[in-house]
Amino acid sequence: MAPPTGNVVDSQSPRLLANQLRWDLTAEQIENMAAELTERTKLVYDRVGSQEQGEVSYENTLKALADVEVEYTVHRNMLDFPQHVSPCKDIRAASTEADKKLSEFDVEMSMRQDVYQRIVWLQEKSESASLKPEAKRYLERLIKLGKRNGLHLPEETQEKIKAIKKKLSVLCIDFNKNLNEDTTYLPFSKEELGGLPEDFLNSLEKTEDGKLKVTLKYPHYFPLLKKCYVPETRRKVEEMFNSRCKEENCLILKELVDLRAQKASLLGFNTHADFVLEMNMAKSSKTVATFLDELAQKLKPLGEKERAVILDLKKKECEKRGLEFDNRINAWDMRYYMNQVEETKYSVDQNLLKEYFPMQVVTTGLLAIYQELLGLTFHLEEKAQVWHEDVQLYTVKDTSSGETIGKFYLDLYPREGKYGHAACFGLQPGCLLPDSSRQISVAAMVANFTKPTPDAPSLLQHDEVETYFHEFGHVMHQLCSQAEFAMFSGTHVERDFVEAPSQMLENWVWEKEPLLRMSRHYKTGNPIPDELLEKLIKSRQANTGLFNLRQIVLAKVDQALHTQTKADPVEVFARLCEEVLGVPATPGTNMPATFGHLAGGYDAQYYGYLWSEVYSMDMFHTRFKQEGIMNCKVGMDYRNCILHPGGSMDASDMLRKFLGREPKQDAFLASKGLKVESNSLPSAC
Ligand SMILES: [Zn+2]
Repeated sequence: MAPPTGNVVDSQSPRLLANQLRWDLTAEQIENMAAELTERTKLVYDRVGSQEQGEVSYENTLKALADVEVEYTVHRNMLDFPQHVSPCKDIRAASTEADKKLSEFDVEMSMRQDVYQRIVWLQEKSESASLKPEAKRYLERLIKLGKRNGLHLPEETQEKIKAIKKKLSVLCIDFNKNLNEDTTYLPFSKEELGGLPEDFLNSLEKTEDGKLKVTLKYPHYFPLLKKCYVPETRRKVEEMFNSRCKEENCLILKELVDLRAQKASLLGFNTHADFVLEMNMAKSSKTVATFLDELAQKLKPLGEKERAVILDLKKKECEKRGLEFDNRINAWDMRYYMNQVEETKYSVDQNLLKEYFPMQVVTTGLLAIYQELLGLTFHLEEKAQVWHEDVQLYTVKDTSSGETIGKFYLDLYPREGKYGHAACFGLQPGCLLPDSSRQISVAAMVANFTKPTPDAPSLLQHDEVETYFHEFGHVMHQLCSQAEFAMFSGTHVERDFVEAPSQMLENWVWEKEPLLRMSRHYKTGNPIPDELLEKLIKSRQANTGLFNLRQIVLAKVDQALHTQTKADPVEVFARLCEEVLGVPATPGTNMPATFGHLAGGYDAQYYGYLWSEVYSMDMFHTRFKQEGIMNCKVGMDYRNCILHPGGSMDASDMLRKFLGREPKQDAFLASKGLKVESNSLPSAC
């Protein structure tokens, strides 16, 4: 783990292809390396910050900071990633601790007024006018970030901001750690789990008295809420799920929201949302509010229709099972009847369908599609050093040049203590090294798909296939970007655009040709029957209204907490559930305390999922749907225009290049089953 030497190495250097990451660190090494990393990084900041005004140059200021950022990012990721994936509790704990220390250090460095001053001096020099475009963007970004940290404000204010930022980073880590480490389970008899398939029941651990343990992790929670026909079981699980870490996270959330508002105010913003949104495509909380309100208004009639259908299904089910009918839709009924809509109205039997999606077949098909579409070649590395035996490592080459562009890890199954969602982690940024050679990009996809059992392979639900395709889209964004600076590598684009490339690729799991390539019956080897395939594709429209209204509820909760002081999360969530979704929240629960995004870098930005879908649908329908979804030329255009720049360009410029015109909202609205009116663009376009 040598510090960067700055020596010039020739282009044949193995460093170019090197994956610098290692996963065999002990808890003690993690602690020590975190301390060493901060020490040597600080030396660079000290050196930059002590430059005389006349001496300040691109080399000794901007480039020095960029170079240390590359090394710092790689090592920081290596130290803080194990908290999400290591099978050893003490390593996860050490990694969490390291993350807290490094986050504190990040705050310290981001608040270096002396360093900021040197960058301002550099910008004032004539030399800065001749910088290359990306270096210029880097310079401007550093100044912007400096101002967003209040470095142009009096020292006293800066100290306040610094103290708040430090507290915030610790609170965020704790909030999500509480959720990840939650080991709550509920014991049920087989009868209480009626409706769930055999393979699910067989995969459950047992209590000493023979009951089946249902945890609150996704592979238990979602299938149960969708398939269990015993309402009382669903009620218990839904209530527990939305009460996870209620006490501790409720306190953390309150503090987070208060501190964010205080910081925004010190920096001269009306609200935390406005502070955050300044850097996004949306620019202001008013634009976001308008976007969400208009969409909610448009979707409302659809939601009403869907609720009526669900209520009717519930009435019939209650008659059939001899249950009392309460004439309302409860939170624990939603997924169950939404699933029934798919099964009855669209006749998609998810349990039958998943027999066609064994993990191995999906993985092979998915990887092949991505390789073909983006002009890439993947190789599985045998005996790669990884953090758990389930994990695989692949090398990625550009097919036409044969050049290695990166590597990715796949970590697909749940484990105790592992990160509970599906996500892509950038580990080594693809960017230029101090000697101007290129560092390959390394990323990891972490997910929690159903694990194989001795009797059955891992069979994926169709929505899991969609998640797989989505997250892998982020992996490709990380790998295909060829920015010069680590700050602009991979998915470092505007936060409300970051989902667009992955969302666009989700479309492939709703099209016949790619679906056939990703599926085969796990016993017979037969393809999905045509009829089932047609039904599946049609079912994309199922529950669109309710699903999107729920997304709007979450986005509005997030906006409310970050625009109104003293908003009560439970009250806000309950009110929006009633108003927007028309389904009440379960009394006694606290969904916002389980809403990891609020502490996971999505604060005031959850709307981004819907916002970026506007662009994802536009890209898909304008180019791929017109010119062929497996058309390699469009695939390469996509790689070059959208993935290649990383964050080195504004998203709106990339979009214009790829689309050949300004973006439009039409395809997005049509995908929601809504009538298209002209002039309904998000105002940022
Ligand atoms: Zn995503």
